[in-house]
Amino acid sequence: MLSRRRTALLLAFSTLPLASAWAQKTYLHCGRLLDMRASKNPVQTEMTVIVEQGRVVAVQKGYTSGSGTDKVIDLKSKTVLPGLIDCHVHLEGETSKDGFLKELTENPADVAFGSLAHARKTLLAGFTTVRDLGGSGVNVALRNAVNRGQVVGPRIFTAGKAISGTGGHMDPTNGYRQDLMGMPGPTDGVANGPDQCRQAVREQYKRGSDLIKIASTGGVLSVAKDGSSAQMTEEEIKAVVETARDLGLQVACHAHGAEGMKRAIRSGVNSIEHGTLMDDETMKLMKKFGTWYVPTITAGKSVADSAKIPNYYPPLVTPKALAIGPKLQTTFGKAYKAGVKIAFGTDASVYRHGVNALEFQYMVEAGMPAYEALRSATVSAAELLGQTDNLGTLEAGKLADVVAVDGDPTQDIRAMQQVRFVMKQGVVYRQE
Ligand SMILES: [Zn+2]
Repeated sequence: MLSRRRTALLLAFSTLPLASAWAQKTYLHCGRLLDMRASKNPVQTEMTVIVEQGRVVAVQKGYTSGSGTDKVIDLKSKTVLPGLIDCHVHLEGETSKDGFLKELTENPADVAFGSLAHARKTLLAGFTTVRDLGGSGVNVALRNAVNRGQVVGPRIFTAGKAISGTGGHMDPTNGYRQDLMGMPGPTDGVANGPDQCRQAVREQYKRGSDLIKIASTGGVLSVAKDGSSAQMTEEEIKAVVETARDLGLQVACHAHGAEGMKRAIRSGVNSIEHGTLMDDETMKLMKKFGTWYVPTITAGKSVADSAKIPNYYPPLVTPKALAIGPKLQTTFGKAYKAGVKIAFGTDASVYRHGVNALEFQYMVEAGMPAYEALRSATVSAAELLGQTDNLGTLEAGKLADVVAVDGDPTQDIRAMQQVRFVMKQGVVYRQE
């Protein structure tokens, strides 16, 4: 009985395209098309992008169309660009006044159902790919469900459960009553000393994570006093990076204070997340090691705003949010001018999912030209992900991840906040 019901459910949720749909080509008529490979003027006019079996097969000048069975999508009044990539989201949760209480009351299934709406909003906002930088591990199942076509969401590269030391930013029982704290260990993302760090990385690999996330300094939203000083030794970070490298995994490192950043950069992490108190010396080090900076300005502004609402955060969190949050935009401006490599990331969950494109506006306000901000969420993000063969530009061979907006975002970046068309791997999810 049960198994028959299960079969019926699977059939009902199946979204595999029919064979005929795969044989069909789709011709996207693009009024303006942004060529993300261009170093100066990226705007091409009256172009056709041809899509077949989920990939771009050609990009042609003028409006062309194929045989009778092929499909034409009219985007002549729009600006078309590659699907956007947010390198820092958390799809499992979303900010709320009772966020801390939810940690004690929600079961994994509750988290999973909640994450469905977050994934859908993210994709419909034009973000066709994300890095999920940490949750309970439900994010691994969410990635798999999206890949199976059971859930509408972006392509997910997930870090599973993030790692830090006891009492560190990623300790899942910070702020709990002592008898509820227990002794979380490497399995729970809590690791002390190089051996436990290696074990924690291997645990994430075993559970199916695509990359590793660590916190080398304190953070704003953990219920702990310090938000920026170093919380992992260089020996521990090196153990993480070496083990991850052996397993083919990248390492993203949360850091607010300069000392924790320097240790992580010297140890070879791939990206620094937030980087709030980054000094000149740290920027030089990032350039030397080729480390990416993922700024998350939106999160900084959002925590500073929420902290002004009485009792929004636990008492230990509020002063950290007020001190650290507002600094991110200025740091980003300095890092950009210093020539640090920048990949777009927002920390969605710290603010509402689906408004990720606000980050573009904050980047432009801080001095980055609009076109470069768009590059950070396409070609640059694809490079950080190690996905340049599949993502980041619209050219033959790449996955057909396509978004379109009204107006020209290279002239007014706010156009990105109202995405009108979203295609992921050849399938249209939004068309207005
Ligand atoms: Zn985060």
